[in-house]
Amino acid sequence: MKLPFDFVSKRFSMATDVDSKKVVMPGDVLGMEEEYLAARNAYAENGNVYATVFGEAEFSNGKAKVRSFSKEIRRIDKGMPVLGVVVSDIGKVLFVKIDEVQIGNSLYVPSNDGKIVKDEGRGRHGFGERDVERRRHHEEALCKEGDVILARVARIENDMYELGMREPEAGIIYARCTRCGADMKYKEGEHTLFCDICKRAEYGKISILYGKPNMIKSFLEKELLNHERE
Ligand SMILES: [Zn+2]
Repeated sequence: MKLPFDFVSKRFSMATDVDSKKVVMPGDVLGMEEEYLAARNAYAENGNVYATVFGEAEFSNGKAKVRSFSKEIRRIDKGMPVLGVVVSDIGKVLFVKIDEVQIGNSLYVPSNDGKIVKDEGRGRHGFGERDVERRRHHEEALCKEGDVILARVARIENDMYELGMREPEAGIIYARCTRCGADMKYKEGEHTLFCDICKRAEYGKISILYGKPNMIKSFLEKELLNHERE
């Protein structure tokens, strides 16, 4: 299934703002080793810090790095948010096919499939005190096959990403009606998904970003770029 968001897979590209920042070529000197630590796309040798790629040099917190102008492939790692489709439900575990996400010129690629362990529901997925009882009850349904979800890699185990959906942003971000296949709408007050066509209501752990692709994109952008800062 293709996810209904344009920043998924290889189709989306954010404009890179090149202003007064320094454009460098591989081998260009970024500075002295005593001034800067070599960070992303940079290395230190003989007292100097050099660029390894064609891109824009950035200097912050004593680090020199280069934001590459060509596409960079990054592996989806622990702590990163992911988008995926629930592909099967075997009772205690939901399996999730994780999609590639492109942010700027970075393509985030999964190296594993994902799973959500259901029975640890409340504790693991954090249906906390802030939630009203009804909401808690609804969220126990978690999500169903075919739902598109936003989750976070909690750990990597046996070649699987174990996903958590603790945050309010995590959960179902797109769903189709089980009965008629129409797009489900989020019904604010009742915290349910609702089908305008056949009037069916469905429950689950619904993301606060449900049906808001631009906000989902901003969320991923912010989270993934934060991850890169290290
Ligand atoms: Zn329907």
